Amino acid sequence: MKIRFLGTAAGGGAPQWNCGCSVCEAARDADVSRTQDGLAVSGDGETWYLVNASLDLRAQLLATPELRPPAATREIPIRGVLFTSAELDHTSGLLGLREAVELDVYATAWVHQALTTAFPLQTLLSGYTRVRRHDIRDGEPIELAGGLLVTATILSAKRPRYAGASAPGDSVCAYRFEAEGRSFVYAPGLAAWSPEFEKAITGADVVALDGTFFTEDEMGATRPASGMGHLAVREQLPLIEAHPGPRYLFTHLNNTNPLVLPGAPELAEVVAAGADVAADGLLLEL
Ligand SMILES: [Zn+2]
Repeated sequence: MKIRFLGTAAGGGAPQWNCGCSVCEAARDADVSRTQDGLAVSGDGETWYLVNASLDLRAQLLATPELRPPAATREIPIRGVLFTSAELDHTSGLLGLREAVELDVYATAWVHQALTTAFPLQTLLSGYTRVRRHDIRDGEPIELAGGLLVTATILSAKRPRYAGASAPGDSVCAYRFEAEGRSFVYAPGLAAWSPEFEKAITGADVVALDGTFFTEDEMGATRPASGMGHLAVREQLPLIEAHPGPRYLFTHLNNTNPLVLPGAPELAEVVAAGADVAADGLLLEL
């Protein structure tokens, strides 16, 4: 299995265009940039699936050699896109794939519903390409091409702000990918280490965790991380220590998280707990 981290920042990227916080300022000074969250994953190294599609997708695809079309063709090795949520930073980039001949889109029924009503992205796209909808359900494995198996675990019912009027449902999930006996879990929106999540990571080789916020009060006391559906990194560290085995990597970093910066002192805490921080472009071969 191959996993390419396309982007490792939360919505807005890091630095964020309108933000002058100390992390954004330091990132600008050091020429550090993290693009918005997404992955490419392949069971056989030939057939790839995207997980989430941000507005940075075009630049991410151009920077990824595995995703180039073969010479003199318009064929692409991307067979489909899976969504972990319906959030704008995870889905808006789908519009940038409208030149594809067809697109297989995997998400929960709730996310598909949001993307055909409140934010009718899939409806718009169907004027340009053939979109095939695949519903994923909690705990039910789905076979993908290239020998890849994926199983979703529902994590929360957090709704994107644009869909706040919708009835809540299965809106945020993690994916466990398996191929040839190796496994990788992707959980960029983790509200809690629930028993279901613990089951999802059991025996995994690598787990990519929600690194949105380093601390619970990073956005100020009125906007706690937990209130936005994110378990802060510092609160995950003892849980990581209590669940040794997988390699743990934080991703989906908000621009306020000091871990955005490669030399952040806070990184020592993360490493001491047995984890690390993913970087844009990181390639894992399991
Ligand atoms: Zn900032």
